[in-house]
Amino acid sequence: MELRCEGCAGCCVDWRPLAPEAAGSGRGGRRPPLDDVYGLAPLTRDEVVSFLDRGLGDVMTPRLFEPAEGDDRVRIDGIDLAAVGGRPVFVVGLRKPPKPVAPIGTGTVRWLDACVFLDPTTLQCRIHGDDVYPRTCSSYPGHNLALDAKTECERVEAGGGGERLLDDTPPADLPAPAFGPQALGSTVFAYPDPADLEGVVALLRDEEATDDDRARFVGAAAGSRPGSLSVDPDRMADARSRAGDADSWAGDAIRDWHERAGADGEVVDFDDDARERLVRGVEDDVGAPGTPGWDDLA
Ligand code: SF4
Ligand code: SF4
Repeated sequence: MELRCEGCAGCCVDWRPLAPEAAGSGRGGRRPPLDDVYGLAPLTRDEVVSFLDRGLGDVMTPRLFEPAEGDDRVRIDGIDLAAVGGRPVFVVGLRKPPKPVAPIGTGTVRWLDACVFLDPTTLQCRIHGDDVYPRTCSSYPGHNLALDAKTECERVEAGGGGERLLDDTPPADLPAPAFGPQALGSTVFAYPDPADLEGVVALLRDEEATDDDRARFVGAAAGSRPGSLSVDPDRMADARSRAGDADSWAGDAIRDWHERAGADGEVVDFDDDARERLVRGVEDDVGAPGTPGWDDLA
């Protein structure tokens, strides 16, 4: 597998406003997600715990799914959800606030939803190579290549973003896939108290969830036991509390970006120098790790 990622960030940014047909809806598959976040990268239980341990419990968000035909399901807030053993299944990913970015080779800076850890100016990941760098990101698009499924890199190419997938041989050392029966309790979790989700599910669908709504799912994921449906109530409560109390630079940046952003896909009305100053003020100056530049990654 060989990729040309410089100037792309197609797998970190919702670039649908730039090329909707090439990008696709992001809501396909037999069990479409309830929300409309593009390219949510699922975290493992251990990664969820690592983010909590680093005080970054406010960067995570859950995703619920519509059931496929014949699936176990539960109905909450009038919405059918895919379930296992009567418990709604979910994954946890990283939040995507709007940022001023110019991804997939375009030279025009627009407000687009982008991963909380994407540096909008360098288009590099601020946690690349860090202990908390998600496995889904470090192995991407290996699983797609192994399954002969379309990659984001090819979508970017189809959207006019230049040549990206230079060698499509899947790597030999791929980790376990994020989905499938082996993923239960490890990347796919089951919420233990469905009755507690009344009123929360509709907010998640409408992308209006509160910090507390997100924290309860982070807690359930951290309290899960890989390979099982069981969730340890004490670990769940402790993790929920730590997620709810988190007050990281990243959480601040998410709030700040939401307050400053223009409409989705709107071209920004400031120049590159002003954008650099803005990104420094919203992210770097409040604690965001820097990015290495492309030369050091070559
Ligand atoms: S963690 Fe890094 S590589 Fe993964 S989606 Fe976020 S910015 Fe992209
Ligand atoms: S879409 Fe592919 S080429 Fe673009 S940044 Fe992601 S992995 Fe790299």
